[in-house]
Amino acid sequence: MAKFRLMAPGPAMIPEQVYRAMTEKVIHHRSNEFRTLVQEVEEGLQYIFQTRNKILIFASSGTGGMESAVANLFSPEDKVLVVQAGSFGERWTQICKNYGLSVKTIDVEWGRAVNPKLIEQRLKEDKEGKIKGVFTTHTETSTGVETDMQEIGKIVAGYNALLICDSVSGMACCNLETDAWQIDVVVSGCQKGLMTPPGLSFVSLSESAWKAHKKAKNPRFYFDYATALKFMEGFSTPYTPAISLFYGQREALRMIKEEGLPNVLARHERQARATRAAVQAMNLSLFSINHANNVTVINGPDGVNVDEMRERILHKYGIYLAGGQDSLKGKVFRIGHMGYCDAMDIISTISALDITLTEMGHIFNQTQGIKAAEDILKEE
Ligand code: PMP
Repeated sequence: MAKFRLMAPGPAMIPEQVYRAMTEKVIHHRSNEFRTLVQEVEEGLQYIFQTRNKILIFASSGTGGMESAVANLFSPEDKVLVVQAGSFGERWTQICKNYGLSVKTIDVEWGRAVNPKLIEQRLKEDKEGKIKGVFTTHTETSTGVETDMQEIGKIVAGYNALLICDSVSGMACCNLETDAWQIDVVVSGCQKGLMTPPGLSFVSLSESAWKAHKKAKNPRFYFDYATALKFMEGFSTPYTPAISLFYGQREALRMIKEEGLPNVLARHERQARATRAAVQAMNLSLFSINHANNVTVINGPDGVNVDEMRERILHKYGIYLAGGQDSLKGKVFRIGHMGYCDAMDIISTISALDITLTEMGHIFNQTQGIKAAEDILKEE
């Protein structure tokens, strides 16, 4: 018997209370009871997004939220700038191209964060102010890198472009101050730091974003922001919502509020630091340079097949670790420590790695990783 632990960078583990909340009876979405539920979910999200903006809620995965931003804020042939530092930056490019936008990219070596000055340089070069949007990824889940959104916010605020941020994996794990950092559009999803089974996406929009929406000609229907806002003003949704997920999300948001966002972020920082220290003490190297605190991406050690290692750990210890994405397939493995993750989840994961890597012939000082993690985790 092995207890299942989903140590992936999303979907991530779900608290028992959230599962229980989702067994509530399905109510009607035009009832007062549902409106109260939506209002509480929106208030909880505003606390975590650190915004006073209204937040639109869609029944979709995070990618749906991303697509909604492109569909609602731009027109074909609009010029936009996309920061590509991994798989999710590339997804922005793909969506923008599919909608006929004219895309220029800033290509960043995988494992590193974009230098905000490069964004400034591109915006400066655009003398006629044609660039209408800058697309970014708060935490690049494929590489384990956090982007300096605060600095980018300061830069983009001086230009006529919207700043759009995918915080599908970063939200409630790494600090993101939507209003203070002047991020026009923040997209997230419920299944990572927000501790709810997959299926909801969230979009926060600034006043400038709403102005852009009025002029945007890209086609849309289900994701139309004006329609969504009209209903959200009455704490409802235009179409049948994922009612059970709202119950789950409300419970998860209550838990985050109770712990306090600063403590939640500090816990992520501590667990990420413990994980990084542990793997380095095990003679493993980190893939990323600018580390995010929600996922640790680790280079596969020489002579060890990482995917076989992940299989063994899952089979024997019930711990699911993620593999690499795209060009990193078979080269790295990823430990997600996001949302509902505690110190013992980290220790168990490091211990499973310690035993399995030893069995697979990797040479290192056994138990040193566990000690390194413990030294940091006990700071709590
Ligand atoms: N952006 C980032 C940074 C992500 O980590 C993910 C999910 N892995 C997505 C976007 C896409 O979200 P979804 O799979 O929910 O569509």
